[in-house]
Amino acid sequence: MPQEYKLLLKNADAPGYGTDLACYERHGGYDGLRQALKGSPEAVRKAVLDSGLRGRGGAGFSCGLKWSFIRHPNAKPVYLICNADESEPGTFKDRQIIYKDPHQLLEGMIIASWANHVNLAYIYIRGEFTEGAQILDAALAEARKAGYLGKDILGSGRDLEIHVHRGAGAYICGEETGLIESLEGKRAYPRIKPPYYPAALGLYMCPTIVNNVETLCNVKHIVEMGAEAFAKLGTPNNTGTRLVCLSGDVKQPGYFEIETGKATLGELIHDSNFGGGIREGNGLQAIIPGGSSSKVLKAGEVYSVKRDDAMVDLPLEDVPYDFDTLMEIGTMSGSGAIIVIDDSRDIVECLANIAEFYAHESCGQCTPCREGALWMSKALHRMTHGDARAEDAAQLTHIAQNIQGRTICAFGEACAWPVLSFVEKFEDQFEAKTESEAVVNE
Ligand code: SF4
Repeated sequence: MPQEYKLLLKNADAPGYGTDLACYERHGGYDGLRQALKGSPEAVRKAVLDSGLRGRGGAGFSCGLKWSFIRHPNAKPVYLICNADESEPGTFKDRQIIYKDPHQLLEGMIIASWANHVNLAYIYIRGEFTEGAQILDAALAEARKAGYLGKDILGSGRDLEIHVHRGAGAYICGEETGLIESLEGKRAYPRIKPPYYPAALGLYMCPTIVNNVETLCNVKHIVEMGAEAFAKLGTPNNTGTRLVCLSGDVKQPGYFEIETGKATLGELIHDSNFGGGIREGNGLQAIIPGGSSSKVLKAGEVYSVKRDDAMVDLPLEDVPYDFDTLMEIGTMSGSGAIIVIDDSRDIVECLANIAEFYAHESCGQCTPCREGALWMSKALHRMTHGDARAEDAAQLTHIAQNIQGRTICAFGEACAWPVLSFVEKFEDQFEAKTESEAVVNE
């Protein structure tokens, strides 16, 4: 039976462990920074690349590769932004680090800043996380006083300041270019890529690295344990650990740290170490594997995946929770948020709930997203309130197909993918809604 593997959460839940600096230092805090400062920035950048660390915020892009897009030396200042907006429904992991172990994040940020020649960094935290922002501010004050921040960090000759910026309370503030606009004091309208890739034209049109909280925490551990040892955790190309948020119809919802790919979806849902099984003896109906924007998986599905140059059949519950396998079966592990839907749920209502969220959160810049997200939500509202039109199920797919790939940012896909996958996989339930309501309406 797979167990939790605690790397980032090693101390967070330990008895007596707190958010104060002295406690953090007693547990080896800031040793990674001291170690990094003995080497070179290039060595840290290489270690992060070699470790195989992938972004934990959603896209799973190589962190080291992202850093490599920044040119050094650079005529412009380079900025680092920690994305602590954490707004994807089902995701509640980054806040645990912030609340329980803020210095771990600061240490990761200081090392990342040193490695990338950053003198000014920001933590963009979700506006609703009032307490989290206060904890971070207190931790920053401690770090400044101890010489980990400010002028001439630990005698290295390098300066760094980090500021906490509370978000503007919208999902789209978590999209990296929307976040940058918001940080500049403007409305969080995502920028079009190209040309506005943050590595080239980011904050104040300067090269900018945007990394997620969990991603940045890993940097400290890569420095301390070495890239090779880090890469041995998890599975090939899916290295390190992953914080998994498990919610929905399981007996034991919560967050768990696992070696990436070392536990299957079935184990995460059913094992007593993790979800403990489906609530109230119900059966599994569906899994949303990576936050509400990921494509849904249906209970009983079997996928054909490539293993050792051969195709093998993999039942849903045997799918390892890693980046690549989830992509191979047509969805994603996204922000690490697994939402379990049992067979007592009305699947159309589940999608209506998701669609209403995205309709509300569209920033409105692109017509397909602004109008389409609302149309889909309205159609689903009709289907769940006894007022369905005969063509509603087909219209949902048509609208979603006309959103994806036609928008400025990936929010277009975020609102289209749930609709496309739910309707495709549970077509009978959507058709039944329109047929039964059509009879009622006659
Ligand atoms: Fe805004 Fe949606 Fe366009 Fe993204 S896709 S920029 S959220 S309207």
